Amino acid sequence: MRLVSTNGVAPPVSFREALVRGIAPDGGLYRPTAIPRLDPAVLERWRGLGFPDIASRLARLWLHGEWPDETIDRLVRAALDFSVPTVTIDPSLAMLELFHGPTLAFKDFGARFLARFLGDELAARGEHVTILVATSGDTGSAVARGFAGVEGISVVVLYPAGRVSPFQESQMATMGGNITAVRVPGTFDDCQRLVKAAFLEPALAGLRLSSANSISIGRLLPQSFYYVHAWLCVTDGEKTPVVFSVPSGNLGNLTAGVMAAQTGVPVSHFIAATNVNDVLPEYLETGAYRPRPALATISNAMDVGDPSNFARLNAVYGGSREAMRGAISGMTVSDAETRAEIRETYAASGYVLDPHGAVAVHAARRWRAGHPDDGARLVALGTAHPAKFADTITAELGLEPPLPMHERDWASKPLLAVDLPDATSGTLTDLLLSRPSASAPPPPRLR
Ligand SMILES: *Cc1c(COP(=O)(O)O)cnc(C)c1O
Repeated sequence: MRLVSTNGVAPPVSFREALVRGIAPDGGLYRPTAIPRLDPAVLERWRGLGFPDIASRLARLWLHGEWPDETIDRLVRAALDFSVPTVTIDPSLAMLELFHGPTLAFKDFGARFLARFLGDELAARGEHVTILVATSGDTGSAVARGFAGVEGISVVVLYPAGRVSPFQESQMATMGGNITAVRVPGTFDDCQRLVKAAFLEPALAGLRLSSANSISIGRLLPQSFYYVHAWLCVTDGEKTPVVFSVPSGNLGNLTAGVMAAQTGVPVSHFIAATNVNDVLPEYLETGAYRPRPALATISNAMDVGDPSNFARLNAVYGGSREAMRGAISGMTVSDAETRAEIRETYAASGYVLDPHGAVAVHAARRWRAGHPDDGARLVALGTAHPAKFADTITAELGLEPPLPMHERDWASKPLLAVDLPDATSGTLTDLLLSRPSASAPPPPRLR
């Protein structure tokens, strides 16, 4: 796979090189220049296969020639080893449950895939990198878990103080070892700004900074796989139109869906479902692209006011808003509508939505109301387990969604977070340079 920068200056690189770099040297995001085509007859033959089988085949299609097929197959199966069910919640609406990985959110797909492939690449090169990642909650936990103990990689996770749930904080700040969690006095956008500045900071060049945000193509690619899997699960022939409703923040998930559609999977439309942080819906509606500070909502993993993957999406549509509108509808869902959706879906079907999934379901129902005769199968992406947002669920439904067994002892683990005194890049530079692993070679680790 050849990748070019959205800023158009940096030279093209291989996928393996883009994995190690994270962000392009001109500050842009890597995007594929040529998309492999998925033959419809081949797609039909995959019907009935399990998710790891489909993911492995897609990875070999995209990454052909970068690694031997057996290596790709082995790494994919190690990374994506959990179930990805579609659950029917009403006759025309299915939930694609993406929260059965170790941190109970869809970011496990990208983080675990990136950890395996980047770990393999660094081992081959005999190199060490520091992954710097900004998170509004779920990325940090998925990356902390996905990379814990991976040889050749230190991870520094920046998260906004007081704006992630205690459970999310526990998932990223209790790992220790090669994982450092940094609490930033500010918002997710501050964290993201600090990460971008650190990449351009000459004093940090020696750390070999790399990225694991959805700006990394290594996170985006595996997210495109579950769209193909879902399409196969909810259709019975090539002609069935499918509309995906994607709960969106930084637009990585949506961009991955668009990548899947580019391979030839017949997705008929995407819904970009946001909370009130609706930079993309506003752009689609008015043509004005206005990044702005994020507002806090109950779907906090989507509290993004300056979505970095917009640059990739925009490149796919050649900068044309009309072209983007032909493929994507934007929908803004308020907290009140999200809460009502949690109650109404539970009353109608007994299904417990988390706030992010509820945004997607609400947007899907609104879309259906505007297209009553369309006949499409609607698939809403369930991006987090409802137990991660127990406060909201308990307030709306009067019940506490149980955590899976393996997570029940979270509150007893000590927090190892480091506080950043202020949200300026100089302070972060000092902190990064003062970490023991910045100067000493890292201790031996598990593979
Ligand atoms: C990150 C996240 C989102 C938003 O996904 P993007 O790829 O940033 O648009 C939605 N839901 C949950 C639970 C998330 O963690």
